[in-house]
Amino acid sequence: MTTSAVDSFLPEALQFRSGAPLVDIGANLTHESFQRDLVDVIARAKAANVTTLIVTGTDIEHAELAVKMAQQVPGIYATAGVHPHDASGWNSDVANQLKALHQQPEVVAVGECGLDFNRNFSTPAEQERAFEAQLALAIESGLPLFLHERDAGQRMREILHSWRDDISEAVIHCFTADRETLHGYLDLDLHIGLTGWICDERRGHHLRSIVKDIPLERLMVETDCPYLLPRNLPAKLKGRRHEPALLPWIVREIAQWHNVTETELGAVTTRTAQRFFRLDAET
Ligand SMILES: [Zn+2]
Repeated sequence: MTTSAVDSFLPEALQFRSGAPLVDIGANLTHESFQRDLVDVIARAKAANVTTLIVTGTDIEHAELAVKMAQQVPGIYATAGVHPHDASGWNSDVANQLKALHQQPEVVAVGECGLDFNRNFSTPAEQERAFEAQLALAIESGLPLFLHERDAGQRMREILHSWRDDISEAVIHCFTADRETLHGYLDLDLHIGLTGWICDERRGHHLRSIVKDIPLERLMVETDCPYLLPRNLPAKLKGRRHEPALLPWIVREIAQWHNVTETELGAVTTRTAQRFFRLDAET
């Protein structure tokens, strides 16, 4: 009886199970849309063999919630940063609070942070200031970086280039840019996170042809849920909220364009994520 809710929410065609355990490196589980049924969401992820979830902390409030979640649920970890949208609120208080969060054992990366010149909710100058301050915090803690970039590829590369020798590792999460930007990032020795954007035959078309340029050991996978529900799912989903249990579908799509098996792609991206975020390799 207790599992009936878990079993009935996803239509049968969306009850995937990955051949290899997966790490969803970008799950916004502190989003209010998950409040009501978080326990079921996590149970469905486990049933799909998505064994590890990195919950994205986009500001102090959500990073603290992510840490709490990680303390309560095995297999969950947190990131702590200030999203470029919120960069206008950056000050020394915020910096100190982040610094304290980075000391928590549950926090495995600094971020999400970076540049978003697509919407400019904060000005580019405010974004660069908050971003560089967080690069400095990453050096202080030694943690890897979880980076967001939209329509700011060139500036991002310039800034990272000047910091590259001092920071440890960094992943460009939800990569959606072009081939030239991709190669710029790979030249900087960065990792690339791919989402269900690639499942969108209109917006994600260009990604399908450049995916093979990403060396398998530099690649990680993520849902960025509740956002970015894959457009080509084989069944309709009530409420259209994306969740970690659907990650195997994204892995299947990437594997197809990379010309490897789903299980192979799953296994290698999981190994990379465990190394990158320094997770206990119990999965
Ligand atoms: Zn993002």
